[in-house]
Amino acid sequence: MINKINEMAQETGTTTGRSTFAQRVMEVMADVPRHEFVPDYQNARAYENRPLPIGYGQTISQPYIVALMTDILDVDSDDIVLEIGTGSGYQAAILSELVEKMYTIEIVEELGLAAKKRLARLGYNNVKVKIGDGYYGWEKHAPYDAIIITAATSHIPPPLIQQLKPGGRMIIPVGEHFFVQYLTLVEKDKQGKIRTRNILPVAFVPFTGGH
Ligand code: SAH
Repeated sequence: MINKINEMAQETGTTTGRSTFAQRVMEVMADVPRHEFVPDYQNARAYENRPLPIGYGQTISQPYIVALMTDILDVDSDDIVLEIGTGSGYQAAILSELVEKMYTIEIVEELGLAAKKRLARLGYNNVKVKIGDGYYGWEKHAPYDAIIITAATSHIPPPLIQQLKPGGRMIIPVGEHFFVQYLTLVEKDKQGKIRTRNILPVAFVPFTGGH
């Protein structure tokens, strides 16, 4: 899996601007047991560089995409990070090893509860899971040094921009389902000004909820 991520990082380097990922990102990618986050019947494929179904029409993202998004967020060990779209909890587990505190929101109750149990069982004690619509963020723990959204949105939710710290970064797939989506980096500068940059065309499951 690690070799495949490195190969793909190289191949996409001219588009993403990063042909290699930070060593600490690759270390956690090697460390977190992905087979624990996929259904039993997918166990044999857990370390392939591909997304896999996790039930309820949802998927655990491709390892290369998890590594890319994690690398782009460029987190520090004292960061507070918010994820929208817990899914299996895999991306949250990866980030939790690099930051101080990880908050993650899942809209499908069954997935959120299963991820919560799984993360606790595996000892990812700095992750808090909430069931709800992530469009509105998690005001209580804001502002966040970094925000990651793992479902495709038609637009960047304003509450999430608001909950991002000045100097913070957000990574989000923007675009309609079945159409081209772009992994988009949103940066908020110290004055609160927003700058966005398209990183890579991607295919994520759609963002749902009532907005
Ligand atoms: N990060 C996940 C990938 C999950 S796929 C992992 O590592 O496994 C995207 C997830 O986003 C799905 O579980 C989906 O239910 C969830 N989702 C979609 N819209 C949402 C919303 N409005 N709020 C919270 N979660 C949402």
